[in-house]
Amino acid sequence: MDEKTLVLIKPDGLQKSLTGNILTKLSEAKLEIVGAKVVRVSRELAEKHYQHLKDKPFFEDLIKYFRGKLHGKRFERIIAFVYQGEDAINRVRKIAGATNPEEADPTTIRGAYGRITTKGVYENVIHASSNPKDAEREIALWFQPEEIVTDPEEK
Ligand code: UDP
Ligand code: MG
Repeated sequence: MDEKTLVLIKPDGLQKSLTGNILTKLSEAKLEIVGAKVVRVSRELAEKHYQHLKDKPFFEDLIKYFRGKLHGKRFERIIAFVYQGEDAINRVRKIAGATNPEEADPTTIRGAYGRITTKGVYENVIHASSNPKDAEREIALWFQPEEIVTDPEEK
């Protein structure tokens, strides 16, 4: 089934200059990019994005990380993409790898490039939606409908 999924290159991915590597790796999924932009992440957006983790002890550190507060002024941003295509959510998750970069397969993006900080936060380079419900919610949070291209015949 044709699906959309949200991919975010997190501040550690930007600081490590991994945008090209990540997009190359994701191209293996044979999906199309239907939305893309650079975003300075407000506290509100970060908290909404990670609302399912708000009771976790690492939540504050996660929000700091996600907003780029740990990676220097030049990296206080995220690059957001919407990918679309057959089984997009699972295909991207598979290439992204497991949440914990030490458990992630070393050939995945998180396995190859992620790390765990001394505070215990998983700096895992990218976000990728987990399931159709999350994907829909997350895409609506990050993109206006008119920022996503549609096929001419869908209009
Ligand atoms: N995270 C963390 N420690 C944990 C679990 C999650 O630092 O024990 C961070 C990590 O950056 C992860 C994000 O919180 O990507 C969101 O967690 P989630 O469980 O939704 O994992 P994901 O969907 O990103 O694989
Ligand atoms: Mg998640």
